[in-house]
Amino acid sequence: MTTLYLVIPCYNEETVLPVTAPLFADKLSALQATGRISGDSRVLFVDDGSKDTTWSVISALAADNRLVEGVRLSRNRGHQNALLAGLLTAKDKADATISMDCDGQDDIHTVDKMLDEYEAGCDIVYGVRADRSTDSVFKRGTARAFYRFTRLMGMESVYDHADCRLMSRRALEGLAQFKEVNLYLRGLVPLVGYRSTSVYYDRMERTAGKSHYSLRRMMRLAVDGITSLSTRPLKMITALGLTVSLVSLGMIVWSLARHFTDATVAGWASQMCVTLFLGGVQLLCVGVLGEYIGKIYAEVKARPRYIVQESTFEEDAP
Ligand code: UDP
Ligand code: MG
Repeated sequence: MTTLYLVIPCYNEETVLPVTAPLFADKLSALQATGRISGDSRVLFVDDGSKDTTWSVISALAADNRLVEGVRLSRNRGHQNALLAGLLTAKDKADATISMDCDGQDDIHTVDKMLDEYEAGCDIVYGVRADRSTDSVFKRGTARAFYRFTRLMGMESVYDHADCRLMSRRALEGLAQFKEVNLYLRGLVPLVGYRSTSVYYDRMERTAGKSHYSLRRMMRLAVDGITSLSTRPLKMITALGLTVSLVSLGMIVWSLARHFTDATVAGWASQMCVTLFLGGVQLLCVGVLGEYIGKIYAEVKARPRYIVQESTFEEDAP
């Protein structure tokens, strides 16, 4: 029988957890009652260094309900790292994990569909949003732009799949071998390989609290994802450099011809245009190079991706 772990990252979710935690636990009990998953299955909450009482809420839930466990990170490391912490903690305890948001946005009944696919032999099951009708027009527009832009930049990802997915133990073991500190799980998980498929679900509105992803953070996520997974921007710079050089060569020949035919005039506007254009292009390209250098800087240091401060697992107790 499958031992299933639901892995749920939480950051400042004290208003949300009391509402959604019972839903996750009830789902597990129901699956255990029908004999689909083993009695060792758990809901694992990861407290991503919350500044509110989230950890007290999680510890109280864990003390109350044997199906609930929690892991607390030493500080806020962001959604991706928190999720990884949960997945790697569950790796040695579970046959399969399903990651979800803690705000009840990911439909809990997707768990059944994912288990079906897992039992049919899939190692990775992506939860894909059936539609985006519950999103604001703004979120829908920016999300679409995000996928288009990242794909154009050479980052392959499953369209409209966020971080709601099932992973088998061997897929997690594969993921554990990726040591990079610039984490973008959506792009990394497909690189693990094995048989995968998608299931579709309706994403609901947040139960309480508000989203942690502002437009700025979404843009940062896009840049991080692209520069962690693709070198296409560097190739685009080379192509741009080549094009500008060829055009410049033509312009030089033309300028010299004008000079020797004594047809030159004081060209303030054209000078300004060329200087400004080339200055802009060069700074942009240096910026892109800088993004990659920043990534290398972080990778070379290889700092820990997260540090576990405490957990509710009995074997970890001091
Ligand atoms: N989250 C986290 N660390 C952070 C920010 C968010 O663990 O620094 C968690 C958050 O509690 C939630 C999930 O990541 O369970 C997704 O965040 P959110 O719901 O704010 O994003 P959205 O669903 O709006 O994209
Ligand atoms: Mg959410």
